[in-house]
Amino acid sequence: LPAEQEFDQRISAVMGIDMGATHTRISLLDRNKKTLDLSKIKTAEIATSDIFPNFKRLIDEKIKQHCLKLTAMVIGLPVTISKDRMKVLSTSNLQIDTQLFSELLVLLQQEFSCQVVFERDVNLQMAYDVHHNGVEDKIVLGCYLGTGFGFSIWLGEGIYTGAHGVAGELGHIPYGNEAEICVCGNPGCLETVVSGMNLRRYYEQKPQGYPLDLFFSQPENQPFIDSFLREGAKAVATTINLFDPDTVIIGGGVVDMKDFPYQYFLELIWVHCRKPLPAEQVHFIKAASSSFNGAIGAALQALKISR
Ligand SMILES: [Zn+2]
Repeated sequence: LPAEQEFDQRISAVMGIDMGATHTRISLLDRNKKTLDLSKIKTAEIATSDIFPNFKRLIDEKIKQHCLKLTAMVIGLPVTISKDRMKVLSTSNLQIDTQLFSELLVLLQQEFSCQVVFERDVNLQMAYDVHHNGVEDKIVLGCYLGTGFGFSIWLGEGIYTGAHGVAGELGHIPYGNEAEICVCGNPGCLETVVSGMNLRRYYEQKPQGYPLDLFFSQPENQPFIDSFLREGAKAVATTINLFDPDTVIIGGGVVDMKDFPYQYFLELIWVHCRKPLPAEQVHFIKAASSSFNGAIGAALQALKISR
């Protein structure tokens, strides 16, 4: 063996970074998908104009702590990303210049001599869920009802990203409230009706004697909940009739709220699924909720591109 290899005691590892609006979570996995590290910091501390030095410091620390050789890195963001996964197209959910992200990627690749790509956060949640549920070889749809209405398409081998990298914008199909402009700039997107944002807006219309987390536990909210779930179920059924999937994963912050009527939601979806197929065969899984799933999903995706 050449001397260099003989004395290289470093552990080969991949890094997954999930950068949310509030927290940035980090996962390190070795080649056997064993977790080496899970940690989080505040996004405001690293997503500044010094984003590269901030990332470098953070990554150097992890490399030193665990004696690692990084082979790939995937950075998840709540944004749209170019087909080649090298550029951020829009950052409506993060207060930072898109150009800074593109520079960051090139600088990280040079600094750590490993492949670095971006990915949409919802696709990383999907990567985690298909792995966790052992359905990586199936056709799987992920419906994540959180602040917005996230959606992801897994076609057996991996994520379907479309011709330009931006496939799966279920939240922005034009079946919402036409009188309203969506955060994306278009009128009447589904998210103007079916999203955590709209639920919160309804909740905040008048002073309430209970926290938002208990929204689904209040009988007086039933009329709103019924129409909210019916519209959401129509959207999910539409994706099922379009894609004929093996499995549909249902999750997100709204689904995780106390007393969310999950079984009732599935019944509403069923009403609009085409019979006999795919209705009789499609299989539903409730997503496991843990704040680190996106970061672990990012590391799992990094293993796929790692040499
Ligand atoms: Zn929209």
